[in-house]
Amino acid sequence: MSQFVVGVTGGIGSGKTTVTNLFAQKGIEVVDADVIARQVVAPGSDGLSQIVDKFGGLIVTAKGELDRPKLRDIIFKDSRLKAWLNALLHPLIREQMVQQSQAAGSVYCLLSVPLLVENNLQSLVNSVLVVDVDEQHQIERTMLRDDTDAAQVRAIMQAQVSREERLAAADHIIDNNGDSTQLIEKVDELHQIYLALAESFR
Ligand code: ATP
Repeated sequence: MSQFVVGVTGGIGSGKTTVTNLFAQKGIEVVDADVIARQVVAPGSDGLSQIVDKFGGLIVTAKGELDRPKLRDIIFKDSRLKAWLNALLHPLIREQMVQQSQAAGSVYCLLSVPLLVENNLQSLVNSVLVVDVDEQHQIERTMLRDDTDAAQVRAIMQAQVSREERLAAADHIIDNNGDSTQLIEKVDELHQIYLALAESFR
């Protein structure tokens, strides 16, 4: 059981997944808030059945999955429904984040939460790791990965906290403006730090 939980956060395209994959290669378990957000509304879940009760059966696709674009459209136009949905999902996601990170079998574990600072979830973790890149890298890498344009990436960045605000919440920072060799070295260094911190936590 992991007693020591490192929260990993960063803006869109900053390199969170790239970084957590490097820790995973060292046997460190990674709990991903984006995966949990899908699990809590998966077919057969209590979350999905409550959404169907509220929005009707048409909110589910022929495959029995939540029709996310449709739901997004509805809540975009109705702030009360958006608040209802957040009140349903946020506690479910939070509970799973705590449960899954506590159940992790590695000496410490990572909890990857893109909106850790935005949603004020620092209390769920023992240490905050911010993956930081400058705006230019962030836009270029996201465009390359998602086949999108700079305006769309900027719009998503606008909805996230500023780089400065995120960095202010960091216990450790990975500067991901460099190449993969530099990233690997930094992860090695942090891994040693986290092993020592986790040891002192037992
Ligand atoms: P999101 O929150 O948008 O899902 P993320 O923070 O998980 O993104 P990644 O998907 O890890 O970010 O990285 C974004 C893109 O940048 C990926 O295509 C990844 O391969 C690439 N990338 C990450 N780090 C580097 C690097 N140091 N050099 C070059 N490319 C990189």
